[in-house]
Amino acid sequence: MEELSQIRQKICQLNQKRWRLLKCIMNPGKLLTASFYERFTKCGSRNCKCASGELHGPFPWIYQNRKGEKLISTSCVQDKVKEAQLFSENYKSFKEKAAKIKQLDEEIHRLIVQIESLNEADAKEFTRKEGEKRGRKPKNSEESLGREEN
Ligand SMILES: [Zn+2]
Repeated sequence: MEELSQIRQKICQLNQKRWRLLKCIMNPGKLLTASFYERFTKCGSRNCKCASGELHGPFPWIYQNRKGEKLISTSCVQDKVKEAQLFSENYKSFKEKAAKIKQLDEEIHRLIVQIESLNEADAKEFTRKEGEKRGRKPKNSEESLGREEN
């Protein structure tokens, strides 16, 4: 069964990748799930340069809109910017790895389905009685004896 051994090999490789990702996932560091980005703003004054398109900024910005919670949309505290950046990167990496694990799981599942069909036993082997013709059941035991071909 060369095909089966190839499938085994593939599953091992995928599983190793999966495990490496999982080890990272299990030690993700702090995760800033809120959006963190640089934002340019208008102050609203008609005489300001921003009125003609030269906006203020960039400001490091925190945005979060959660159901049942107060909307957060404000500049990040200056001495927290580095931490916010780090935690935000942690979260991106976390999400990427989680998505890759899901993808690997799907690949592994496809291989599992292949194993099933490769190793499937024929149910007919368990229903055909010796000497019995294929696809037809004898009407009674006497007839069945009469038909014996051995
Ligand atoms: Zn302005």
